Amino acid sequence: MPGTEAPPRERLAAVRDTIAHTAKIAGGPAEAVTLIAISKTVPAEGIEPLLAAGQRVFGENRVQEAQGKWPALRTRHPDVVLHLVGQLQSNKAVEAVALFDAIHSVDRSSLVQALGKAMGASGKRPDCFVQVNIGEEEQKGGVAIAELPALLAEAREAGLPIVGLMAVPPADVEPAPYFALLAKLAKDHGLARLSMGMSGDYETAVLLGSTEVRVGTALFGARA
Ligand SMILES: *Cc1c(COP(=O)(O)O)cnc(C)c1O
Repeated sequence: MPGTEAPPRERLAAVRDTIAHTAKIAGGPAEAVTLIAISKTVPAEGIEPLLAAGQRVFGENRVQEAQGKWPALRTRHPDVVLHLVGQLQSNKAVEAVALFDAIHSVDRSSLVQALGKAMGASGKRPDCFVQVNIGEEEQKGGVAIAELPALLAEAREAGLPIVGLMAVPPADVEPAPYFALLAKLAKDHGLARLSMGMSGDYETAVLLGSTEVRVGTALFGARA
């Protein structure tokens, strides 16, 4: 693995190689896994090298920060696909639907309703992931496991295109059991996509069926 001092192009190649290798071990093609480059806190000039290296799928965790960076970058790279991976306030739903191609943080009834309205009004329907509080942690975003079936039903009723589940497992413990649980929940609900795995654990996530890994630090270096 190149260190964080390596050029962005090399880091990207290394992460892509690791994904391809791990996907093969897991029995699937590398193309089954989408690498989302999480560019939160990274200024446009830090994102350019990855765009130049061919990366097209990016993720941000704040609507306002993304609005400041991506419209300009997209005029030069109209094929960029932008994911929202952070907590979303209902009053930002209209802006989020306008800017993002996928939203990974659908986790409560009020947000489902706000997104449903925003999609109805704009006609734009970004792919939606329901975020699950997989470790049942008080401070974390995500719907409780027990409330997942009801929220999924409500989201479908509201017309949200729910494509999969997303989770961030508890810090500093072995993530595999949590990834396995998320995969089982997705399967039980007939959902094909799994947003799981970050810089520290994306290999484990791919082995357990992740279809979208969200990698920031391993591509851009440590955040300030
Ligand atoms: C920041 C962030 C990531 C990327 O984390 P790294 O450890 O830097 O790879 C992934 N998912 C979410 C939801 C994040 O907020």
